[in-house]
Amino acid sequence: MHPHPAPHGVSINGLYPLNDTSEVQIKAGRQSKLSFEVFPAKTEKAQKALLSELRLLYAYRPTFISVTYGAGGKSQAGTADTAKQIQKTLNTDVMAHLTLAAQSRDDVLATADRFSAAGVRQILALRGDQPHETVSLPQNPFEDTVELIRCLADRGWDNIRTSAYPDIHKEATDADSDFDWLLAKFDAGACEAVTQFFFDADNFFRLRDRLDRYGLANKLIPGILVFREIEKMIGFAKNCGVHIPARLHVELSRSRQTDLEEAHCLSILLDLLLRLSSQGVEQYHFYSLNKAQPLVTLLDLLDLPKQGICAVADRQPETCY
Ligand code: FAD
Repeated sequence: MHPHPAPHGVSINGLYPLNDTSEVQIKAGRQSKLSFEVFPAKTEKAQKALLSELRLLYAYRPTFISVTYGAGGKSQAGTADTAKQIQKTLNTDVMAHLTLAAQSRDDVLATADRFSAAGVRQILALRGDQPHETVSLPQNPFEDTVELIRCLADRGWDNIRTSAYPDIHKEATDADSDFDWLLAKFDAGACEAVTQFFFDADNFFRLRDRLDRYGLANKLIPGILVFREIEKMIGFAKNCGVHIPARLHVELSRSRQTDLEEAHCLSILLDLLLRLSSQGVEQYHFYSLNKAQPLVTLLDLLDLPKQGICAVADRQPETCY
């Protein structure tokens, strides 16, 4: 593994060269707000395994843990259950994702009500993708994400987040229309936007600068994919329209399927986080892929303090050891 980066702040593989080393101290490290994303567990065994992984991450006191919803149009039922389990077991808020694609308005709202009944108070409002399988068109669907956000706000949800795309959404006609759509989602009632994962920090900063003109710069939370396998990450990036800078492609090809692969993935993430932190980012959302260890290694490299690990069954933070 690489040497500890803080406090020297040396860019490990030179992808994001940083000039002033004093800038790159992870000052954000001690103050940063962290959140973690998981996907719903499908079986009881997987649920148990997920909770043990989250127990390790809970030590970093996330501001919330988010649970995805039927990515790809499948398995939508588990979100409320998993959210409920997480809230019951760990003393942390949960944000449930909710998509509207290929569902009737009534079904979407029934799901939101299920989240509510499970004690969930935070929601990530999304359009989602049409499922690959041919499905019949739903009755009376939501028109788009803006309409969904407005409706959730009218129904009393006051902690609504939405998505943002530093590399521009793959269906967007151009950066301006993508940005206008993001503004429309804020106008409709979203309080923050979590980004798609990205590797080009400049694209994130560009989006943040545009939001700054509307007083929304600190409402943009960077999404960081904690990947361990280069091949898989490239597949995700392709699917999601995420730009991998040419230099990173070259870097990655050197360690693909070698003993250094996992360490190299971490060093790339570390570089990205150092770069974000050096530009004042203080809030990070990690796509955990339901695995704690790579994230724990990353957070420890960043010198983020642990605040005690809670026994899984404990709800009270003071019972942490
Ligand atoms: P929107 O933001 O509504 O639209 C996507 C883009 O299309 C916009 O950025 C804009 O460029 C364009 N657009 C749409 N409507 C208009 C319009 N009327 N006028 C102009 N431009 C328009 N998917 C899942 O299935 N389950 C999940 O749990 C999930 N979680 C996610 C979490 C995060 C943080 C992110 C970033 C994505 C997540 N996704 C999830 C993926 C997401 O569903 C896909 O990226 C999907 O293609 C777009 O959904 P959206 O809500 O971002 O769409």
